Amino acid sequence: MKIAFIGLGHMGSGMAANLVRAGHEVRAFDINAEAVAQAVADGAMEASSVAYACRDAEAVVTMLPAGKHVVSVYGTVFAAAPKSAVLIDCSTIDVETARRVAVDAQTEGFAMVDAPVSGGVAGAQGGTLTFMCGGTKDAFARAEPVLSAMGKAVIHAGAAGAGQAAKICNNMLLAITMIGTCEAFALAEKLGLDDQVFFDIASKASGQSWSMTSYCPVPGPVPSSPANRDYQPGFASALMLKDLTLAMQAATGASADTPLGARAHALYDALCAQGHAGRDFSYMIERIRRGA
Ligand code: NAD
Repeated sequence: MKIAFIGLGHMGSGMAANLVRAGHEVRAFDINAEAVAQAVADGAMEASSVAYACRDAEAVVTMLPAGKHVVSVYGTVFAAAPKSAVLIDCSTIDVETARRVAVDAQTEGFAMVDAPVSGGVAGAQGGTLTFMCGGTKDAFARAEPVLSAMGKAVIHAGAAGAGQAAKICNNMLLAITMIGTCEAFALAEKLGLDDQVFFDIASKASGQSWSMTSYCPVPGPVPSSPANRDYQPGFASALMLKDLTLAMQAATGASADTPLGARAHALYDALCAQGHAGRDFSYMIERIRRGA
């Protein structure tokens, strides 16, 4: 399949390489020339512009920083891609913009899905991402084989924007369980409990969660967690703050009451402002231990 891939950063580079590995003809474009050079080294063809990448494409995949980049790039995609191409935006952006771009795509005669991911850079490189998709059944059916080459799970969440909605709700819950897990460890430590002993108990009791048993915020109990490598990400606090900001924006728009989401947003905002934006989001434990 001829696939245009636009946005070859931390995530897009690994995803594009997996499309090449699956036998697709990938035309890669990024405003950063070094990112394009890396994609070419990984077997993609260099594209000199968004329009050139989209010429004759059967699918267009985008992996961009935020909504404004998505709006700008799709302005060109709509003009340059054949109407038969399926459009797949894997960026994490606000629900409202995702819906607006999807309506524009439909008006222009394209099938489109929003397909944000869970799984981080390791998942992008390893082809083990989870895709949460929003769009019509037909658009999903056409996007699914492309996404399968880059992930372990491809799930249809509902109509346009539903993928973004699922992503921010999941990450809001993740932030809340991580902060709760950090609070529990910090209190357990102050009460004289050993981290490993508390883990052995809570991981088999009702306090168990993914934040505890797969991504434990203290070093030791889960050897693969970022706590064991000085909180190198993983999933950076800046990206968690981005997703929480999108969640709070969506909650305001939907008149949803999200008191813990709001508190999580304030805590990650403060953690990033203290200079820890680049550390893994489980570094929250240090802020909780300090109490500020
Ligand atoms: P990144 O900043 O590393 O990559 C984005 C790329 O888009 C950059 O290479 C940039 O040059 C390129 N770009 C920007 N504007 C462009 C334009 N107009 N035309 C072409 N290319 C353009 O970001 P990332 O970490 O790869 O994340 C991409 C998306 O995936 C974001 O929406 C992010 O929230 C989401 N995400 C990231 C992670 C993660 O762990 N990094 C995990 C899940 C989801």
